[in-house]
Amino acid sequence: MPINKSSVATYVLVIEISKDFEIIVGKLGKVFFKKGNYIYIGSAKACLEARLRRHLKKDKKSFWHIDYLLKSKKTKILQIWIIDKKMECQTAEVFCQDPTTEIIKKGFGSSDCKCVSHLFYIKNKELLKNILKEMGFSIYYSFSKFRIDNLLGK
Ligand SMILES: [Zn+2]
Repeated sequence: MPINKSSVATYVLVIEISKDFEIIVGKLGKVFFKKGNYIYIGSAKACLEARLRRHLKKDKKSFWHIDYLLKSKKTKILQIWIIDKKMECQTAEVFCQDPTTEIIKKGFGSSDCKCVSHLFYIKNKELLKNILKEMGFSIYYSFSKFRIDNLLGK
C-alpha cells in the first residue's frame, strides 16, 4: 500500500521477544516481559516512514515507552501493518476486548489517551492477522534482512 504522506496513519508493530526479561520503562517503572509475541499500536502524521525506520533502529535515545522495549537485543519487529487513517485508539480497544490478548503494563504507550494500553501480549498470531485484515490494515513490512537494509537506506 502506498503511503499517503499528507495524512495521519496508524501502524501496528508485531514484536517478538525471544527471552523473558525485565526493564525500566521510563516513568512506568519496572516492566516484566515474558517470551512471546506482542503488538504495539501507534500513529504518525506525515512522517510515517521516518517513524517506522526509527522503530527498527536499535541505537537511539528512549523517548516513547516502546523505545525502551525495542532497544533490547531480545526484541525483533516481525511485521508492520499500516492503515492511512487515525484509528490508533480504536485499534487498541479492539485488542483490549479480545480474549486472546493480555495487557502487560497499564499505561504502556497510552500516556496521551484514555486507553488501558497500546501494547498487548498476543497468544494467537494467526487470529491477529485476521483481526488486522478485517479492520482494513495491510502489511507494510515483514522481517527479512533485505527489507531492513532497504528501509534503513543501506
Ligand atoms: Zn489510545
